[in-house]
Amino acid sequence: MASHIVGYPRMGPKRELKFALESFWDGKSTADDLKKVSADLRSDIWKQMSAAGIKYIPSNTFAYYDQVLDTTAMLGAVPPRYGWNSGEIGFDVYFSMARGNASVPAMEMTKWFDTNYHYIVPELGPEVKFSYASHKAVNEYKEAKALGAETVPVLVGPVSYLLLSKLAKGVDKSFDLLSLLPKILPIYKEVIEELKGAGATWIQFDEPLFVMDLEGHKLQAFSGAYAELESTLSGLNVLVETYFADVPAEAYKTLTSLKGVTAFGFDLIRGTKTIDLIKSSFPEGKYLFAGVVDGRNIWANDLAASLITLQSLEGVVGKGIVSTCDPLNLSLTRCLYYLCIGADKLVVSTSCSLLHTAVDLVNETKLDAEIKSWLAFAAQKVVEVDALAKALAGQTNQSFFSANAEALSSRRSSPRVTNQSVQKAAADLKGSDHRRATEVTARLDAQQKKLNLPILPTTTIGSFPQTVELRRVRREYKAKKISEEDYVKAIKEEIKKVVDIQEELDIDVLVHGEPERNDMVEYFGEQLSGFAFTANGWVQSYGSRCVKPPIIYGDVSRPKPMTVFWSSTAQSMTKRPMKGMLTGPVTILNWSFVRNDQPRHETCYQIALAIKDEVEDLEKGGIGVIQIDEAALREGLPLRKAEHSFYLDWAVHSFRITNCGVQDSTQIHTHMCYSHFNDIIHSIIDMDADVITIENSRSDEKLLSVFREGVKYGAGIGPGVYDIHSPRIPSTDEIADRVNKMLAVLEQNILWVNPDCGLKTRKYTEVKPALKNMVDAAKLIRSQL
Ligand code: GLN
Ligand code: ZN
Repeated sequence: MASHIVGYPRMGPKRELKFALESFWDGKSTADDLKKVSADLRSDIWKQMSAAGIKYIPSNTFAYYDQVLDTTAMLGAVPPRYGWNSGEIGFDVYFSMARGNASVPAMEMTKWFDTNYHYIVPELGPEVKFSYASHKAVNEYKEAKALGAETVPVLVGPVSYLLLSKLAKGVDKSFDLLSLLPKILPIYKEVIEELKGAGATWIQFDEPLFVMDLEGHKLQAFSGAYAELESTLSGLNVLVETYFADVPAEAYKTLTSLKGVTAFGFDLIRGTKTIDLIKSSFPEGKYLFAGVVDGRNIWANDLAASLITLQSLEGVVGKGIVSTCDPLNLSLTRCLYYLCIGADKLVVSTSCSLLHTAVDLVNETKLDAEIKSWLAFAAQKVVEVDALAKALAGQTNQSFFSANAEALSSRRSSPRVTNQSVQKAAADLKGSDHRRATEVTARLDAQQKKLNLPILPTTTIGSFPQTVELRRVRREYKAKKISEEDYVKAIKEEIKKVVDIQEELDIDVLVHGEPERNDMVEYFGEQLSGFAFTANGWVQSYGSRCVKPPIIYGDVSRPKPMTVFWSSTAQSMTKRPMKGMLTGPVTILNWSFVRNDQPRHETCYQIALAIKDEVEDLEKGGIGVIQIDEAALREGLPLRKAEHSFYLDWAVHSFRITNCGVQDSTQIHTHMCYSHFNDIIHSIIDMDADVITIENSRSDEKLLSVFREGVKYGAGIGPGVYDIHSPRIPSTDEIADRVNKMLAVLEQNILWVNPDCGLKTRKYTEVKPALKNMVDAAKLIRSQL
């Protein structure tokens, strides 16, 4: 029985690639240094997989930045502004596309499906001249071979590549990106020929687009593309890998009828419905790559359950052949031979690339031993895949299986996981909508009586610049190098500084600046029960950037107030309203590794109840304006439209739970870090916040068009008036102009004036003048109204 890994993290167990990249970018090390670190990482991974007994080991899943950008380089689809014409694409052009250079900004980056990974979006159009410009796939295959590892080279499939692209600037909107297939397939053919020449016997095309809602002509593009590649692919085993959701029935038919393809890979963790499709029909004689080990989570696999799933598929793969196996006409040995062939065609795999999980558990020396026994990072998942493949072939590693069963049973029965009162409180939520009793307009009146704000009130989103000194204080406190007393004193001083600046700037609703927070999710996770933290559980987000999501392992509760001390301290420093600042339940959920032993929405409801307690304690503590950030609400939107409404219902409900109990006069704000919300505007209104601040400065038009289309909106709204991602200081006129544009569409009594997002990553030298201009712009317009 064979085993396969879809892809593997590139960063290294201790983010070696990150440091190598950043040092190279800073000019502190050479290209050769970077290549050496990278080659060592690749070699370690191949060795590790060979040692674990993996049969189909991937190559070309390493990337210096991103696998989609690698494909752009392979196809020579470099936008002209990067000044490349011909030859093999080197670091300078590659990294210029990824990160920009002194004269040209980077290409756009966007989220890779519903993961936290981001890819560089190809810019294509009729003018692009494709050519074979990066031999990386072939070089990596040869590199592995030289090290003694026979690998399956992985390419982003041609149809997914085009469907993940966008039109280059100036290209007519009616241009169909799929019409470029005849131009890119010749290059894929060159690559395939070269791989064959180098000795490859397998090739993997990642075509994750198969799991999306696709119109008929897009499905046809897959059929056409693989039919075109068929003759070049002959002699190779060809795996088309899908992941992140189930494959819809129509797409499944197309996929399993592709010409030239001999193997199909499925995500059987998120795509449980695909199992039924596979069972009802799977093409005769083809390989089934069954992704039963979760590539997107950190939990140890339930090996016994996976084995049952695999066994149920064993018959399916063998079935076509076995049914032709008529014992009257064939000898028994021959029948068994066919059966074995069938069995060999079921390959145990991961649900998707392991890129989306943490790298190696061995480096978690500080993690609680019991919790650690419940986990498996990429390195451990490789071992699980192999153990399952062997078990399927009758060579069960008993001790490994029993240790796994033991860990799972300890997880199921651990008192640290289950908290009866939390379970009960979450169950009791059923049946209520958790809506504030009064309409938003009436609430705004009650709030205005108390707050007495000017028209176009000014505010900021929460964080103020985090200086080196501030980070040092937090670090030293955590490491117990400074006393609690000294820490509190230092943070209070920082808050005072931030309050003074805002008063001087004459901002209307103040923030305390979040100096005590390292990260908006981690800060809350550390104070809630049911969360664990890793030392090295990093996951690549984009380029050299990684995130370290907390692990939610148990029922979530709030042992004691989390922010009340800091918020009320800040409020005591000013007569102006001080916003309490919380992270919302959906964002905490979406930016964590979430338990897989209960539905996501149940975990979200538990977090909501914990935040609800905090909101109510803030209110009791004299905080009249409370912001509950839902930066990641949109991110959690499922890939398929049919699932959107269920998600939005529980996500929005969770948000309402947090604040349904406050008085009319308490003003609830929320903040969101995206502007594409046209399609979910009704859900956003349904959150029933009093004020929403939202990223906008990079896309005025898109945002405001929703309101132009007559969406009835009564709550306060603060579309960001300047981009905090850039060091640029916007002028008063520029901001006033923006506000005026908004006033053309929005009622003046609901409009707020604020930046796009928190100011944490900016410098004071940028923040002060920018905010001054913002306040001046608000005052200027007030005087004209
Ligand atoms: N309150 C947070 C801050 O200002 C919000 C950050 C975010 O939306 N990503 O930092
Ligand atoms: Zn934001």
